[in-house]
Amino acid sequence: MQFRTRAIHVGGGPDRETGAVVPPIHVATTYVQPAAGEETAYDYSRSGNPTRSGLEEVMASLESGTRALAYASGMAAIHGALMLLEPGDHVVAGADIYGGTYRLLHHVMAPCGIDVTLVDAADLDAFDAAFKDRTRMAWIESPGNPRMTITDIAACARIAKAHGAWLAVDNTFATPALTRPLELGADIVMHSATKYLGGHSDVLGGILVVRDAELAERLYYLQNATGGVLGPFDSFLVARGIKTLELRIREQSRTAMALAQWLAECPQVASVNYPGLPDHPGHEVARRQMDGAFGAMLSFEWRGGLEEARVLVESTRLFQLAVSLGAVESLIELPAAMSHASYDPESRRAHGITDSLIRLSVGLEAFEDLREDLSAAFEAAAGSVEPPSTK
Ligand SMILES: *Cc1c(COP(=O)(O)O)cnc(C)c1O
Repeated sequence: MQFRTRAIHVGGGPDRETGAVVPPIHVATTYVQPAAGEETAYDYSRSGNPTRSGLEEVMASLESGTRALAYASGMAAIHGALMLLEPGDHVVAGADIYGGTYRLLHHVMAPCGIDVTLVDAADLDAFDAAFKDRTRMAWIESPGNPRMTITDIAACARIAKAHGAWLAVDNTFATPALTRPLELGADIVMHSATKYLGGHSDVLGGILVVRDAELAERLYYLQNATGGVLGPFDSFLVARGIKTLELRIREQSRTAMALAQWLAECPQVASVNYPGLPDHPGHEVARRQMDGAFGAMLSFEWRGGLEEARVLVESTRLFQLAVSLGAVESLIELPAAMSHASYDPESRRAHGITDSLIRLSVGLEAFEDLREDLSAAFEAAAGSVEPPSTK
């Protein structure tokens, strides 16, 4: 079956009991046992819940894995994967990983004796050189945030394998509709289901998907032992969102491409970061790795400084000023002041996050309306702030 058919039919209805085309939300926390000590499919809902199982089944299918696990948030899913590590282990991570992953690695895992090397994973020689004998896991993200850097997942998988390490890929930005890292050789795929999978800015969740049965069993053990599972109501919402995932991401990508092309022509815009543009450094890899579309996230450099960029992001009406991404409503944000504010200025500069870099999450609104919204905000921003005196 094709991706979008599986998105609707795997792990879903009809409900065996009632014939309902939508599976029920199972709220029970405990299940009657037929006899003392007799094993059943479900006994306690931290260990397993039918609504959560339905979501896990469809995600395993969409990511070409054998098993998925649903967590209370994307961060809980990442932590679930990092708990595979032991004191003394080393992690190689992409330099442009999600800020929360950076924090978890450096401030929560490091005190547990796990050290991290950050490296530009788009530079395969540098990536290879970052591995040590102790490296157990590599963690990458493509497209990266907020400059939409593209990492060659298949090449990274080969390198990680040669070093005997797992490759984990945060696939939140691309979604399985556009990129399936397990097919490219990755060992673990992770999602913040809060973004495109849910798709409507109304549910927090995280997913891990793997192929290897032993790895799946270990992750399940850790999840059950630590308890960061996704609740039944939230599992239902994520599963509902997934039914329209492919349609949403393809349409949102189409609009993002049109906006990227329009932005590239705007005189006040110094540069546009969108992997669908031929001059993007990752364009060729993205064409190979992404399935017919380049995603709906982009960023651009405003020629004015930070203060003008502030006026710009506060002037849009359809693009709402907020962090997060991946939903039907378009969002705008200023990484230097918002999503990446916790980075020190030095590492912001190292990541190419300038003060006037603006990030867009393109939603499902009409392209013309979004373009007009930006156009009006550009007019409000241009020349709104006196340039600092240079005397
Ligand atoms: C949001 C996000 C996360 C964290 O997910 P939460 O659901 O917020 O915990 C991780 N990675 C990426 C790329 C994200 O965008």
